[in-house]
Parts: sequence; C-alpha cells; structure tokens
Amino acid sequence: MIDRVCEVAIPRPFLGTLAYSIPEGLIERVRPGVRVRVPLGKRGTVGVVDRLGLSDQRSEEPGRLRPVGDVLDDSEVADPQLLELCRWIADYYVAPLGVILKTALPPGLLGGRAGTSEPAVRTERIVRIVRRLETLIDRDETFGRAARQREAYETLESLDGEAALAHLTGHLGFSRSVIDGLTGRGLVELADRTVERDPFAGAPATRDLIVPTADQARVLDSLREMAGSGVGSVALLRGVTGSGKTLVYLELLESVLAAGRSGIVLVPEISLTPQTVARFRGRFGDDVAVLHSGLSDGERYDAWRALREGRKRIAIGPRSAVFAPLRDLGLVVVDEEHESSYKQSDTPRYHARSVAIVRARLAGCLCLLGSATPSLESWHNGRAGRYRVLELEERVTGHGLPTVRLIDLKTAREAGAGDASDDATRGERGPLIVSPELSEAITARLARGEQSILLLNRRGYATFVECLDCGRVWSCRNCSVTLTFHRRRARLVCHHCGFEMAPPASCDECGAPEPRFTGVGTEQVERRLAELFPEARLARMDLDTTGTKWAHVEILDAFRDREIDILLGTQMIAKGLDFPGVTLVGVINADVGLHIPDFRATERTFQLLEQVAGRAGRGADPGEVLVQTSRPRHFALARAAEHDYVGFAERELADREEPVYPPHVRLANLVVSGLREDRVADEADSLAEWTRALIDDRELDGIEVIGPAPCAIDRLRDRWRWHLLIKSRHAAELGAVLRFLANRRARVDSELRVEIDRDPESLL
Ligand code: ADP
Ligand code: ZN
Repeated sequence: MIDRVCEVAIPRPFLGTLAYSIPEGLIERVRPGVRVRVPLGKRGTVGVVDRLGLSDQRSEEPGRLRPVGDVLDDSEVADPQLLELCRWIADYYVAPLGVILKTALPPGLLGGRAGTSEPAVRTERIVRIVRRLETLIDRDETFGRAARQREAYETLESLDGEAALAHLTGHLGFSRSVIDGLTGRGLVELADRTVERDPFAGAPATRDLIVPTADQARVLDSLREMAGSGVGSVALLRGVTGSGKTLVYLELLESVLAAGRSGIVLVPEISLTPQTVARFRGRFGDDVAVLHSGLSDGERYDAWRALREGRKRIAIGPRSAVFAPLRDLGLVVVDEEHESSYKQSDTPRYHARSVAIVRARLAGCLCLLGSATPSLESWHNGRAGRYRVLELEERVTGHGLPTVRLIDLKTAREAGAGDASDDATRGERGPLIVSPELSEAITARLARGEQSILLLNRRGYATFVECLDCGRVWSCRNCSVTLTFHRRRARLVCHHCGFEMAPPASCDECGAPEPRFTGVGTEQVERRLAELFPEARLARMDLDTTGTKWAHVEILDAFRDREIDILLGTQMIAKGLDFPGVTLVGVINADVGLHIPDFRATERTFQLLEQVAGRAGRGADPGEVLVQTSRPRHFALARAAEHDYVGFAERELADREEPVYPPHVRLANLVVSGLREDRVADEADSLAEWTRALIDDRELDGIEVIGPAPCAIDRLRDRWRWHLLIKSRHAAELGAVLRFLANRRARVDSELRVEIDRDPESLL
C-alpha cells in the first residue's frame, strides 16, 4: 500500500512536496527522479517524483489523494545522487525542491510555458553502409561500369561507413541518383541521426606541451592521492596569479578520466574566461561540454543529454554547471572560488561552491577550490583543517609577481594640468583621473609597444549629479541610489532598475544653473585617455560596451592580437586573463569599493586589486602596477601592494571578530520589502520580535538577531526594503530557525515579501 502513493516536487514557490496516489497502471513506472503530470488546482502541472510513500508530516488520508496523471520519463531526469543534492539545497537554503530541480534541469523539462515538452532534437539525413564488399572481385561484379557509385561507396568507407547526405551531395558532389543507386543495390541505407548543436564542437584536441614544474608536480601528487581515495574531500589550492593553476586542473582531470570517471569545472563566467575554457577544449576536445549562457535551449538540452549518456565526460560552465548530469563523478573544480557570481541572487539562492562541495561528498570524490585570493570562508576552513590547503607561491613564467606602487590621490595632481600654484583653482580643473606617474608609465609602454590594462570599477561618465547651490542630488525615481550620467547616450541612468532621464540643465528645486557632474566613471576615463594619448589604440570593456553576446570575446581577441594598446574596464577585465604583452596595470581609483556598506567590502577590494595586478608581467617582460588611492595606508591596499594574501587574511579575520561576521559565524539576511514603507517597517519589526521569541522559546544559544534596519539601498524598483540579520555559531540551529521563518512567511500579506538569503554575498 505504501508504494501506491508518492511525493512530487512542483516548481512553484511553496516549500515541501505534494502527495499523490499512483494508479494501478503506472505503479511500475513511478519512481524517484522521473517527471510526472499531476493535477493541481484546476489545471495540471509537471513535477518530479521526490519519493515513494508519504512524508512523515503528512496528515491526509492516502485514500483521498488525487492520482498521478501520467509518467513522462522512462529513465529518471534526476538520478538518485542529483536528487539528493537538490534535497540538500532545498533544506539548507529553505527553498522549494521543485524550483531547485527546475534550475538543475535544462530549460523546458520542468515548468515554463513549454511545461513538459522536451526541446525538439535536431536530426539530419545520413547515408550508411549496410553491406560490406570484402573483395575486389566483389566490387568489380557489383558496380560494373557504375564508377560513380563505386566512388561514392568507397568514399563512405573512408568516412567510417557513414556520412551526412548533404555532405555527400553537397561538398563531395555525388548526385542523388548515385546515392539512390547504392540504396537500390542494398549497399547503403538512409537514416536519421541526431545532431549535436554544441557550437564549440569539432575543435581539434591539441595537447599543450607544457610539463608541470616541480611545484605543480608536488601539488598534483597530493591531489591525485586525494582524488583516488574514493572518499569525498575538499582541497583549497591557493596559487598566486600566474602560478599555473589551470595546468594543475588539466593534469588532475586527465588522471580522473583515465580512471574512467568524469569531472565538472566551474568558472565564474564563460565569456570572461575564454582562455581557460579554450585550454580545456584544447586538451580534451569533444569530451567537453561547454555550458555557457549563449547556448539556445536546444543546445543546452543536447549538452545535457550528451553528459547524461556519458558521451561527454567533462562539463565546464558557470554556477549551474554544478548540476551537470554526470555519472561516476571523479572531480569537481571550482576555479576562482572567491567569486561572488557563484551565489545565485534570486531563489534558489544557492552558492555553487557550497553545492559543489556537497556534490563531491555525495559522489565520494574530490572538490578542488582554486584561487589566488581565496574567500575568507574557504581560507578559514583550510586553517581549521576541514580543507586541505595546497599552495603555489611562485609564478611559473616571467619575472615573479609585479611590483606595486601606491599613488596618493590627496597629493597627486592631474597629468598635464599645470603646476602646484594652481591648487586653489583645483575644482575648476576637474577631477584627478590620471596622475603624472601613471601617465609616464603608460607613455613608456606605448613607446615600447607593450600593453596596459586600466581598472576603474565604476561605469558611466559621472556617478553623481548635484546642485552646487541647494545640494539637491539627482536620484532614481524608483530606487534610493544616485543616477549615473552616461555621456554618449546623454542620459542619467539608474544602474539598478534602468530608469533614465535627460540630464538637467538647471536645478529643478532652486533653479540654479549648471549642476555639477562628479564621481569619475569609465566613460570619462576613456575620454581623458584619448586626450592624453591621442595615438594610442584604446578599448573600453564594461557592461555598456559588451551588450551583445560575444562582445567580450571580440574585445579580448583584439587585445590578445595586440590590436589594442590600452584596455580600460570595470572588474570584468580583472579576471583570469593571461596576456603576455601586458606589462602595466593601472588602477584609477582603488577606493571605489572600500566604502560600500557591506562587511565584505575590504575583502573584495583586496581581491580585485590582487587579481588585476596579476594581469601584469605574465610574459617575457616584468610587470608594474600603479594604484591610485586616497587611502594608501589602508591595510587592504598595503597588503595587496606586497602580494601578501596571508597577512591580509589574518588581519581581516581578526577584524571580523567584533562585530562578529562570517566566517566566524553563520549568517542569514532576511529582507522584507513592499510598496509602503510603514508596513514594511512594521513587518520587519514583528519578524524580528517573532524570531527573538522563537530563539528564547527553544532556548537556542549562540544565535543572535540584529535589526531590523533599513537596507543600505532602502528602496529598489519601487519597493521599500528593511532587513534583519541572523548570526549563529552553529549551522544546524540557523537552519532550524530559517525553516520556522519560512513557514511563518506563508502567512504574510500578499503584497509584502520576505526573502531569506542564507550565506549572503551582499547585504545591500
Ligand atoms: P593562474 O591561473 O594560476 O593565474 P595560469 O594557469 O593561467 O595561471 O598559468 C599562467 C601561464 O603559465 C599560462 O600561460 C600557462 O600556459 C603557463 N604555464 C603554466 N604551467 C606551466 C609550466 N609548467 N611550464 C610552462 N608554462 C606554464
Ligand atoms: Zn532605479
């Protein structure tokens, strides 16, 4: 009787699963991981069977359940391990299992308009030999004077017995009647073959010839031992920029494949890491499925099937690649593990690094986290002995890490802007963008035909428009943020909701003319550079110049081919690029991220500086880094200037003791939002009160509620936002509190929303 019912996960925003009975005819086919069509409300929907039998909490009578309508799969779309992984996510991040499964499966399999339909498989007509002619005499007798038919037949033989019809009649020039002749003799048949739509397919595998250095070999020995042990484990590889971490991943993956297992490689964003992806494709060719955001639904579905059927054994992609349906998983690599893009910013708010670790544990394999600047969470876990820490302290090539010079913006002057006696009129000279030192350094690179990378992590022209008379600041109509002036578009733009307006000619409050545009963004730097270096070939890379799908790749290709002298950009140019021609990295203003009201602001500043500095001097010529800042003594900058990750981490870990923040505690951010501020504030208050009472009631200790308070961005897309933080010494207790909260949420008024973000990457 117990197996006549099942729990089904539905991709809708409610926690828990729904129970259904299984009609007689479907008993054989309903099992965990297959999709079923079930009644829900007036219409049906499609879900995934979570388990047979009923969950313990269920109070309904099994006899009164509605029946499963249909079973859609013969083999499960989520195998037991993947299903277990999704259950872990549902539990840990208090998110609906059905929504997680929808994220984990290729689009179209669950939910959406298509609902159940699998994206159509594309097929092509092929010609295939069905009768072999063994001897020459056979051939002479069979073909007689039909020389063209014989030629076509032998061409097919040389193509391993089959070829696309279009290829034979197109490129190879055989007429259709020749092919029909072969069919008529019963030598070949026409058939349909599914086509892989992977646009990366067909690239030849060329094994790069580099041999691991002694350092890399030492690290590899340890990793191979861990990977071969058959138990789940985590290694943290801290390798300075240019220490050759990618080669370590490649070699390790090769041993894993040789042992008949498969691997996943997570990268922060495919379009920003084309070189890393190319090296995997280069080494493993068609064994690799590249899961990038440019894939169509059909292509994604093809890649998913190829992985599931074992035709490809490596999945490389951003965070959702952690769900790649590989069997016999032997390795999960998380490259640049500190990257915040591994955290999904909407439901389910999972962190791919955490999921990767759990997946490796379920598969009994190694999870390898790699970075030059590990997240403090991972570093802390390493020091506590939970992860095995391996280090590469030296660059493999070039001249060691580049020298870093800090330039004090408080005393510097703008390049070419006259002498010190002008100081009184500084305001009229405009902002400081390029100091004389930076200008000289760029000039020297241009003269020597070397390349420069310049970073400013702020796009637009001016980030702030204010009235000098009354102090009015132009803010977004929907969000509590200032509008950024984009000069080329001649608009003020909100970077959060996209609202835009014409720039003001005068103040609409006091009428004073000419509001001031302050706060330098990349667009303004580009203009200044064009003035200072009119002959330089300059490219800007930020969200505004990379709107189209492959724009990043085009800019980076041109830079690699040395068609660009100076590459200016936001943090997107700081990541993983390996260009030997770059000998100078300049940071226009290192303070940009330092004042963001978030406990990770310092960590992010250090990471960004160290990563961007790491782009310099990777080739034959030594690298130099110039960092403009008004806080040269800040430890994040001072430690970055020395490439001293360990020193930075020690200080920052100490700073997070008081007030206490991760990694010393577990954190969840609860955001209440709604259209009316008073109701949002009231709800946040009662939520905080409720949570405190719950903690008292259950006598949970080591857990603390902070707030409520308005969020740093207290209005976003027209919604007011308040939040409270829950800090806990123990993961399990935090989880318990969040589950209670999630159930309370169901009672909240429909217009108000409460969002739970466990292990938040941003508190804004
Ligand atoms: P990381 O990711 O640690 O910053 P990469 O993996 O990009 O470093 O390697 C930096 C450069 O060093 C690459 O151009 C790579 O081809 C080269 N490299 C790596 N290992 C070796 C080696 N053992 N011998 C020669 N060159 C190497
Ligand atoms: Zn806005």
